[in-house]
This record gives sequence, C-alpha cells and structure tokens, in this order.
Amino acid sequence: MKRITRKEKRSKESKKNFFGEFIKVKEHFFKDLVKKLKEVKDCRNKGYIDYGVEVLLLMIILKNALGIKSMRDMTVQFNKSECMENMAKVLEVEKLEELPHYDTINDFLCKLENKEIEKIRDYMIKELLKKRCLEQHKYQGKYWIIAIDATSLFYFRERHCEHCLKKEFKDKETGEVIRTAYYHNVLEAKLIIGDMVFSIATEFIENEDENVSKQDCEQNAFKRLEEKLKSKFPRLPIVILGDSLYACEPVFKICEKNKWKFIFRFKEGSIKTVAAEFNKLKEYDKNEHANCTWVNEIAYNKRTVNVVEMKAVEKEKEKYFLFITSLHITKNKVAGIVLAGRSRWKIENEGFNTQKNIRYNIEHANSLNYNAMKNHYLLIQITDIIRQLFELGAIKMRGLIKSIKEISSNLLESFRTRILTAEDISKIRKRTQIRLQ
Ligand SMILES: [Zn+2]
Repeated sequence: MKRITRKEKRSKESKKNFFGEFIKVKEHFFKDLVKKLKEVKDCRNKGYIDYGVEVLLLMIILKNALGIKSMRDMTVQFNKSECMENMAKVLEVEKLEELPHYDTINDFLCKLENKEIEKIRDYMIKELLKKRCLEQHKYQGKYWIIAIDATSLFYFRERHCEHCLKKEFKDKETGEVIRTAYYHNVLEAKLIIGDMVFSIATEFIENEDENVSKQDCEQNAFKRLEEKLKSKFPRLPIVILGDSLYACEPVFKICEKNKWKFIFRFKEGSIKTVAAEFNKLKEYDKNEHANCTWVNEIAYNKRTVNVVEMKAVEKEKEKYFLFITSLHITKNKVAGIVLAGRSRWKIENEGFNTQKNIRYNIEHANSLNYNAMKNHYLLIQITDIIRQLFELGAIKMRGLIKSIKEISSNLLESFRTRILTAEDISKIRKRTQIRLQ
C-alpha cells in the first residue's frame, strides 16, 4: 500500500463523508435492508404508534455503528436536524419530524420477538454467501468455516429474571453459600471470512424458569443452535470449529447427521482411547510434514476420526496444537487443516473481545428487560456485519488506516454534521464495486 503524507491524509479525510460511505456499503451488500426492517412484525398497541418499526430499528443499528455506548447518549447525540434528515434519506422518506426517545424504542424491543431480528440477519448472511468475492475464503474452495463458542454477557449480584443462570460460591470450610451470582451467557456460531467474523446463528444459554433442577449449559444450547443453523442453511457446506468440549460422541453424531465436517481442539482426556491410539500409531506411520504429525482413521465407536498435532516455534514461543477432525489428512492438506483449526481463536478475539471492549460494549445492558436485552444483542450482530465490511472495504483500501474507535467517531461526526446530498445519494445507489482485498 502506498504511504500517504499526513497532509494528504487530512485533505482526503475532510472530503470524505464517512456516514455516506457506510450507507454505501449497506446498499452494496444489503440493498433490501430497509425493506426487511419494515417487514418486522410489529407487536405494539396500534393506537399509540408514532414511528414505523424501521425507524426504531435503524436508530439502534446506527447507535451501534457509530459507537454510542448508551441509550441515553443516543437520544442526546441524535437530537439534531442533521441526524433526522440523514435518517430520512436512508429510509427514503420525505421527512422525519422527530426521532423516537429511547424509552419508546426499549418498550418496542421488550415485546419484539427475537426471531424477527434473526430473520434480518438470515437475509444478510444469505446475500453475503452469494458474493463471489468471499468465495476465496472457503476452506479448500468448498466449505464455509464456522466457529462455535460461548461467552458471558451480563452479570448481576441479585436475580435479574427467571431465566438467569445461577452460580453459588460456598465457604470452603463450612460449605455455606456466601455469595450467589446471576448471569446470562450466549452461544454463537460465527462465519469466518478472512479476518472478518460474522454472527450466523445465536442461542442464549438460559434456564426455562427459576426452579429448574438442572441448569442450561453450552452443550444443551449447542443442540438448539445446531437445529437453527441446519434449518436456516440446510445445504451449506460447513466445517465446524470448536474447542475440546465439542470433541465427543453427541457432537460427532450431529455433524454426521448434518453432513458437516469438523475440526475440534483435542485434549488427551477428551477421548482417552483415541489419544492412546494416536500416540502409539504416530511412531510407526511417520506422517510428518510442516511441523505436523498425523494419523488417519483411528477407530472410535462406529466411525473413524483423524488426529493431527503441530509443534512449532513462532515468534520465539513454543506452540502446540492437537486437533481431531473428520477431514482426511494428507501431506498437501495438513497445513490447511491446522490453519483452519487455528482460526478458531478469531471467534474469541475478533468475535467476542472486540465486540465487548472496542466496538460496542456488548456487556452493557441497554435495557433491563431480558427480551429487550436479547434484541439489543442481536441488533449488534447485524450492525457488526455491516461495520466490518465497511472497515475493510471503505477505509483500509484507500490508505486511511484507523483504529476502530477513530472510525466510530468519524462516522458519528459526519452523521451529525453533514446531510447526505442528492449527489451522495446517487453515488450510493450506483452499482459500485466494493473491493475487499
Ligand atoms: Zn436474567
């Protein structure tokens, strides 16, 4: 990439309408997004409706995209005529007299069914999967890589709702409960496209009610997530990545039933017989290449599995990885399999940590109502898809490498100060090429 001087950078930036560029990305990849927002099933009392569902949903998407951390701050920041005009332009309406107060939006999100927002994401993912430019990120030109992992979202000192997960901390000597924590976790399936990580399915880990004898857990949530993923994308060729928790019979069965390939982290303790067989056979077979040693066709129950280990020194650190996979390992494929398996860290890093600490602060509850909390979380997943495409396509390509926070503040500033012009709009609507490489 050509280096540009600071002066050139300043003049380039002042000409740039960041918000316009963001909307251009939305338009390029998801041209029916506003239409999809309008189709969301409205469950509000018909007598009190001032704003269409699309206004309420777009507000939250923009709040997220522009890096605004709280609902209250959104109401303050967006209370400008420029913001109203920009919103109207995006929604293709003549005029918006006012923007809704955050209480109005939260009331709506309390009642809105989660699946309504999931449907919008399904539309977006399906549009992405059609794009030629993303094909090159498939594993061996054939399989989409999907990583599965859970993370914690909200934590409370007192019971927050009937669905909270509960953890008791006991005194080591007396066994008495000294503290109880209540929390909410989520299980995600994320599509890995190069360095981008897109949420493709979400399952909240939650108890049915306060009195359950056994709490919900990641393994149970995976069974629900798997059904969701299969029903939404029945023929999608997938390689599933997961940590060693997934290296077990029930998950292998699910993958076979769905015709999904898998690469899971493997611990010797996960399946002792497979580990023993691997350790024994690797000495005889000597399948070695690119710091990897592997053994194919290790018998396990009614199937065979393949195991590969990698030992290497990278950046002066010793690295060790052990994977179990349904993909047949060969000298030509081993490096690719290990690379795909290792890309699982992206769900923790790009997927969760960036959403928590840099882009959106997903651990901040925008509402205390559990259903609204889930809807806010899903709207962040939708925003994140557009935001990552915007960051890669519109910013990095033109030599404006910026931090994620700088991009948010540039976006917010242009949304609040520059009204999209007729010329901007015609540029946005034009079928322009957005290159991601
Ligand atoms: Zn709760």
